[in-house]
Amino acid sequence: MRDEGAQAVLIVCAGRTFFAGADISEFGKPFEGPDLKAICDLIDSSTKPVIAAIHGTALGGGLEVALACHYIVAVPSAKLGLPEVHLGLLPGAGGTQRLPRIVGVETALDLIVSGKPISARRALDLGIVDHLASEAVLRGDAIAFSATVVGKPLVRTRDRDDKIAAARGRPEIFAEYRAANAKAFRGFRAPEAIVQAIEASVTLPFEAGLEREWELFKQLESSPESLAQRYYFFAERETARIPDVQKDSVTLPIASVGVIGAGTMGGGIAMNFLSIGTPVTLVETSQEALDRGIAVIRRNYDASARKGRMSTDEVERRMALITPALTIDALADVDLVIEAVFEEMSVKKTIFAELDRVSKPGAILASNTSFLDLDEIAAATGRPEWVIGLHFFSPANVMRLLEVVRGAKTSVEVLATAMKLARTIGKVPVLSRVCEGFIANRIMKRRQDQADALVLEGPSPAEIDRALYDYGFALGPFRMIDLVGLDVIGRSATERSVVGDLVALGRFGQKQGGGYYDYDADRRATPSAVAADVIADFAVSRGIEAHGGLPAEAILERLLFPVVNEGAKLIEEGIALRASDIDVAAILGYNWPVYTGGPMFWADSVGLPHIVETLRRLEAEHGAAFAPCDHLVALAEAGRSFTRE
Ligand code: NAD
Repeated sequence: MRDEGAQAVLIVCAGRTFFAGADISEFGKPFEGPDLKAICDLIDSSTKPVIAAIHGTALGGGLEVALACHYIVAVPSAKLGLPEVHLGLLPGAGGTQRLPRIVGVETALDLIVSGKPISARRALDLGIVDHLASEAVLRGDAIAFSATVVGKPLVRTRDRDDKIAAARGRPEIFAEYRAANAKAFRGFRAPEAIVQAIEASVTLPFEAGLEREWELFKQLESSPESLAQRYYFFAERETARIPDVQKDSVTLPIASVGVIGAGTMGGGIAMNFLSIGTPVTLVETSQEALDRGIAVIRRNYDASARKGRMSTDEVERRMALITPALTIDALADVDLVIEAVFEEMSVKKTIFAELDRVSKPGAILASNTSFLDLDEIAAATGRPEWVIGLHFFSPANVMRLLEVVRGAKTSVEVLATAMKLARTIGKVPVLSRVCEGFIANRIMKRRQDQADALVLEGPSPAEIDRALYDYGFALGPFRMIDLVGLDVIGRSATERSVVGDLVALGRFGQKQGGGYYDYDADRRATPSAVAADVIADFAVSRGIEAHGGLPAEAILERLLFPVVNEGAKLIEEGIALRASDIDVAAILGYNWPVYTGGPMFWADSVGLPHIVETLRRLEAEHGAAFAPCDHLVALAEAGRSFTRE
């Protein structure tokens, strides 16, 4: 840095924000200069104080630059964070070495491993920010602050030892942190590397720590986990792109919403709108059902208030936005209606015919149906272009996936509005055309079908669940059924099934009597001899001969390759726009492990020729359910992939 008589250097950015971090598309390619680490080094070693003045979002590399400065000034609305972990990476320009020296090891671990941004005020409390500036005059305030530090001895973060000295005396801190978070870290590579980098800040001199950090960064950068997570980062944003919907398409204002049905889904759906301050008219068939539904909403908000996530005033404000009603006529003036009643075509058709009668012109009429034909529902109205599917996932106030179902006649304007609205309520919209189960449920049904079939052939529920757990799913399909309840899962079954036989024995799942597993008082699952007998008995009734266990890899091929094949069919049929949309639906809707990239990205990693070959073998052994579809075969034969071009 040239010294031309300046007494201090102020780094302040024009526009919306301070440096907001790296250009993510640069990862994995040779970085274009200048090297951020060198910049941080230059700042750090300046003989004049360097002050960062932050507004907007100082994230990732942006915050690393600020951390290298001798002082940080920020406006209260600024956000600071190191979110690299979400891309399977770590801050590679000194962040893991400087932050612990400023805030101590425990806080640095929390901030970098969670990747969550913090407010400027919290950063002030933690000692990251030295001075809060006023929103309107950041530059002027920062200059005034600079004047107060000129001439003071310069303290470089690299030379600070006070905050990390404590950890030096308690090296087990890292082992404890790993043990406490083992479950959350499972399958991910970045959290462990971050712990190691922060450990290096304590055990190594600053320069050596920087080298260790860079070494770990490079390892992560080329890891399959980070490649998958970076792919996913873009995939989640890509879902918004629809060929015939322009970015600036006209959208309709949604100032009020009606929800029909205040059951499991209706209540959660309503909460999404209450949370953004949109009034909701909630329609039920009886006062009891209405009261019950509203009480559940209140319980949810009260629980958030108890955890300190919102004030009790806010709870009341949201509850006051609900207008309860016992007739659809109450929806005459709302801009959007979302129907969430029983999954029965006749009920839905009656409701949509009524909506057609009462709704104002220009109202969007949406159904939350999971499996029914949206076009048939739309045909019950005289305005099918205003009908759309909004398929929420349960719990609807929590799950981020929203499948936006485009009917044959849905207008572009209605579609554009729904896609935009999804983002407004914090969801990730994935576009689907009409088919049974849409995207996530349709592909994952293939996994369930094969789990149900395979369990009759010898591998136990525990072996099958274990294989999927080790792959990265939180729960295997049988643990999941036990959790949801066998009575719920088997409700619509028309023929004899293992689930039905278990229910007949009073086995309703984890909540009562056990299910595929037995449960102790602490709800710990152990393999069940009774369930094993029921399964064996059912297999005999079907003439299926059990032949013992299977290696985990064979279980995964049997259960997950059909999912990939179904995904390929969705593209072939034009139900899904692109393979990455299917990955987003699987990851957000079914907790498919994000570090695999989702079924389609994973399939590309496995290799499509291997998948086709395996499906053909399974087809020969077990029948047509495994026949690879034309699209999959064509890609494999052409040496192409779903996601890598
Ligand atoms: P639910 O049984 O919990 O709730 C349905 C509610 O609708 C009940 O409270 C019932 O009283 C009410 N209702 C029935 N007929 C009505 C009418 N004519 N007018 C007003 N209210 C009426 O069901 P749910 O699980 O919330 O499912 C609702 C819809 O959401 C279904 O189409 C289902 O397929 C879909 N869905 C469910 C889930 C899930 O996981 N539960 C997920 C996605 C979509």
